[in-house]
Amino acid sequence: MLTVETKKQVREAVTAARSRGLSIGLVPTMGYFHEGHLSLIRLSRSMSGYTVVSLFVNPAQFGPGEDFERYPRDLQRDAALAVSAGADLLFAPEPSEMYAPDASTYVIEEAVSAGLCGASRPGHFRGVATVVAKLFGIVEPDVAVFGRKDLQQLAVIQRMARDLDMRVRIVGAPIVREPDGLAMSSRNVYLTAEERARAPHFQRVLSGLAEQVRQAGPGRLADILDAARRRIETATGGRIDYLTAVDRDMAAVSQAGECMYIAAALFLGRTRLIDNVAVRPEEENV
Ligand code: AMP
Repeated sequence: MLTVETKKQVREAVTAARSRGLSIGLVPTMGYFHEGHLSLIRLSRSMSGYTVVSLFVNPAQFGPGEDFERYPRDLQRDAALAVSAGADLLFAPEPSEMYAPDASTYVIEEAVSAGLCGASRPGHFRGVATVVAKLFGIVEPDVAVFGRKDLQQLAVIQRMARDLDMRVRIVGAPIVREPDGLAMSSRNVYLTAEERARAPHFQRVLSGLAEQVRQAGPGRLADILDAARRRIETATGGRIDYLTAVDRDMAAVSQAGECMYIAAALFLGRTRLIDNVAVRPEEENV
């Protein structure tokens, strides 16, 4: 595996791979790899001949006061893990390589990104969509793999690729969890021992809630969701940012029969965790 820092080096490596007849897979990440990232790399490898992993803590998707500076970073460890998962090229640029000082063009998706994290983190999905569009322009992948852990992100990227006629196929990968159910996240290292011990209740309540919604028939959801918010806050000691029943376009729904996913964000101390559950996994299409 080669580690490179410039767009030019990526283009050269990808051109060489293509000339050998290989299809190109891309896994965009912010690094500090865990098993979730590695599962994406393995999936890309199974679907393409040459897998590019990008590692870029993208300043444009962090708001003021968010964790850009303290976001965990360990390039050496990540490079070793990427090799072990079968990556062919690790692209780890500096912000100055990615953005011209006078960059003034952005990708703004206006529907799928409106609620949930888009409402709590203004500008976040503009930063995500713009950097992913740039990565698509640099790598020109046949396939790009994103985790369902960031469900709304996956839906925004799918919508962007469709609306802007990008040639890439977007693939969603299952959420990888710790043995106690907590969704793996680079941000889990922020949790204190006590917060970490309580964190699994977040997923436990969410998965119970999915079952409740399935059994609720077509009726109103508001009371069930309210009770779940209270249960999560009591069990984790955290504060719910949002807990919302959504359809496949990430729009909030009020009827159980229209609910495809329940998506939630929880502040646990200084850490913001997100998670989601599919209510109808058999109909999943993002
Ligand atoms: P990040 O480095 O956190 O920006 O994540 C990079 C990619 O890995 C995104 O597509 C995430 O959705 C995906 N990812 C992060 N955590 C998990 C997880 N626990 N399971 C599956 N995919 C994940």
